[in-house]
Amino acid sequence: MIGLEIHARLRTRTKLFCGCRADQFDAPPNTHTCPVCLGMPGALPVLNKRVVDLAIRAALAFHCKIGERSIFARKNYFYPDLPKGYQISQYDEPLAGGGRVELELNGRSRRVGIQRLHLEEDAAKLIHEGGRSLVDFNRAGVPLIEIVTEPEIHSPREAKDFLKKIRQILRYIGVSQVDMEKGEFRCDANISLSLEAKEGTRTEIKNMNSFRAVEEALAFEEGRQRELLLQGRPVERWTLDWDATKGRAVPMRSKEESEDYRYFPEPDLVPLVIDLRWQDELRETLPELPEERRRRWREQFKLPEYDIELLTEERKIADYFEEAARHYPRPKEISNWMMSELLRMAPDERTAIEPADFAHILRLVDEGRINRTTGKELIAAVIRTGKSPEELIAEGNLLQISDAGALAQTVAAVLADNPQAVADYKGGREQALGFLLGQVMRKTQGKADPQAARRILLERLRDSL
Ligand SMILES: [Zn+2]
Repeated sequence: MIGLEIHARLRTRTKLFCGCRADQFDAPPNTHTCPVCLGMPGALPVLNKRVVDLAIRAALAFHCKIGERSIFARKNYFYPDLPKGYQISQYDEPLAGGGRVELELNGRSRRVGIQRLHLEEDAAKLIHEGGRSLVDFNRAGVPLIEIVTEPEIHSPREAKDFLKKIRQILRYIGVSQVDMEKGEFRCDANISLSLEAKEGTRTEIKNMNSFRAVEEALAFEEGRQRELLLQGRPVERWTLDWDATKGRAVPMRSKEESEDYRYFPEPDLVPLVIDLRWQDELRETLPELPEERRRRWREQFKLPEYDIELLTEERKIADYFEEAARHYPRPKEISNWMMSELLRMAPDERTAIEPADFAHILRLVDEGRINRTTGKELIAAVIRTGKSPEELIAEGNLLQISDAGALAQTVAAVLADNPQAVADYKGGREQALGFLLGQVMRKTQGKADPQAARRILLERLRDSL
């Protein structure tokens, strides 16, 4: 049984309880601080409404029930990255709970429950270097949501897939960038194994900073617990620290219980009351979520599951597909071209060609007015130059007739019109080929693809030998 605790940094301009910037990650240390986020005695927190908006959006996207009233609480512990001696979080009355996420695994759909979703502030960042420990308070007070799942995940692989799904949804609704490398998305996991029908003992793993680390750490811990249980030894309630370089989890301390934190209501903040109107207003701003979109696409576009999965992964790409399909209603063609031409490009180039232009090029290829190679070059050229396909075609005289069908007709006509040259070529006069090719070029006003024309000409002459 695996349960996850996920922290995601919300995308706001300012911090959770003060006006300091929350989006300046590369700023010099301690340049975005004030008495509130430095934890000065007497400084008072003021709740950022935008944070609450984003958290409600996330809660709605995970089908949570939003608490009419939620309470901020102090989570007390001492650590150098926490000058107040407590973190402002939520405890027994969280913002939301009772949600779910649909997970598709091996073609089967599964639900994982979301136990709770609450708001809390981030701690400062500790940097250990040169035998010293330094503190950067720019991160102190940055808004986070914590998402706690039910222990309904059943394998390390499922845990990884689930996390990716959470990331996808948070990105779709635009509440978080969810960049794991920047620490915007962090995950702790609880895991317990039992060989009989009774519940096992949970251990907690911390410091997994990539999707791969989550899968590997859980697989390691599953193995460790299995070995203990097979030897008839007890699993102890530890908190473990994942060491990705050594590929092993090492005990940090015996696991703390919530009693250890002596939570109590934050006396400097009033209860947060969220009425139905506020919820409804935000619900209306939610985009179609990935799972709904996939369902609709199966009906509407009848694409293979593989295509749907790939193209709905990111909202920007999915929107792009739909826009292109509006201009050129051949979904499978658009999907093929997007997968082969656009998705292999750098992320910021993928949608640098307008969907209408992209669809226009596909139409030209389908109509045989340009060949596939020219189509591909044209897509790359539009992205490179920012010019429209029409401009580029006019400039580069790109409407070459390299389409085999169109060229074959011209070649047949040229051969019929020039029986003497054909006879000469068959008689061994190689130069006659050049003459015939010249005729093809003249008949097409120079727009024939010379190589394609030559190839077709040779095929026809050989066939008629
Ligand atoms: Zn501040």
